[in-house]
Amino acid sequence: MQKINILLKNGLVLEYEKKPAINSMAISNGNILEIGKDLDQKYIAGQIIDATDKIVMPGFVNTHSHVAMSYFKGLADDLPLQEWLSEHIWPVEAKFLSAEFVEDAALHGCAEMIKNGITTFSDMYFFGDQTARSAEKIGIRAVLGEGILDLPVANYQNADEIFTYIRKMHDKYKESELIDFAVAPHAIYTCGKENLIKAKYLAQELGILLHIHLSETKQEVNDCIKKTGMRPVEYLNSFGFFESNVVVAHAIWLNETEQKILATNKSSIAINTSSNLKLASGFDTFKSYLEHGINLSIGTDGVASNNNLSILQEISLAAKLQKALNDDPTILPAKEMIQIATIGGAKALNKFNQIGSIEVGKKADIILIDTNNIEAQPLYDPYSHLVYSLTSEQIKDVIINGKIVMKDRKLITVDENELIKKSKYYQKKIMKFNGIQ
Ligand SMILES: [Zn+2]
Repeated sequence: MQKINILLKNGLVLEYEKKPAINSMAISNGNILEIGKDLDQKYIAGQIIDATDKIVMPGFVNTHSHVAMSYFKGLADDLPLQEWLSEHIWPVEAKFLSAEFVEDAALHGCAEMIKNGITTFSDMYFFGDQTARSAEKIGIRAVLGEGILDLPVANYQNADEIFTYIRKMHDKYKESELIDFAVAPHAIYTCGKENLIKAKYLAQELGILLHIHLSETKQEVNDCIKKTGMRPVEYLNSFGFFESNVVVAHAIWLNETEQKILATNKSSIAINTSSNLKLASGFDTFKSYLEHGINLSIGTDGVASNNNLSILQEISLAAKLQKALNDDPTILPAKEMIQIATIGGAKALNKFNQIGSIEVGKKADIILIDTNNIEAQPLYDPYSHLVYSLTSEQIKDVIINGKIVMKDRKLITVDENELIKKSKYYQKKIMKFNGIQ
């Protein structure tokens, strides 16, 4: 008998490109070792998880987030993007962002991600080293895009200092099983051509991802045309920005030419439906993107603009919105939405060979969803339930890199009460600064 770390027994396993089936799974050294029946006769497991009445599926890959904004959740709502950013978010960021704040806020955000079944996230923020520490502490996989702006930011005076920092972080976390760094120019309206080109070269040199907000509002597109004579994707393409792997967040206002450019490059779109609807930024046109062959993935954006991290809610909302917009209930069937939120995200982050699906040899990034409840019964098609019936409350167990980080909705690697206490502490400070109290 071979010794393994975890034996997951009798779950409804959503194995990649196979029909859902009751199966068991052997997990060892962070990887999926075998999927099949009667595995308990073959392996001795350190831990056994009874997955009866549970859907066993790949964890969600969140391709656009600002995890350390967790303490700004619900701070300012019901405003246009520019006003929300410049009058509410930037002032509190200027006052509060520090290494300590980011480490605490990121830990809270990572905890919230795990509670929503997210096993990998692609972030854009500042103080990536502290976010990495929190991600490693809780045990979540992360691609951390260090934000670049032409103006001074919380941790640096200019973009060149940030480029140096990214090199240092890339080197520091080289051996980490969970952390990668990325280059994240904030947007074309906060980052000039010179820094965008430097960002591109740095990403190419280190072989890492670029992550940028793009075409989020009509105004951004109009301003770009006025300034450069080109639309945003054409402008970036004019200096080879898409020669690297790029995660383009939002990308709502793309014309035909821009979609063709993204389709022929190694770029992916992070769809952020809740955030875009809430800020009335507009709609993505999924159908056309898919017809052009652009890789799609799901992002939550930060909780300050969403205001939650539920991927199940994102895909349910996006699927229904797209059906209505296209006057076609057959587009984006449930299984395809789940694939966009899992393997689509893995492709976007250039991690297709490691995560995003349940396959032997891939990383054991797995979530277990309870179906033995009123909302989940009767159960004919797990994909249908995931997109149209269930909420994150039914996500019970989360395994990342072969380690259990949530069991029966209780986080294993951090003390949830401590996290709640800390967020109340920061809430008081932020309220005082805003003159609310
Ligand atoms: Zn964003």
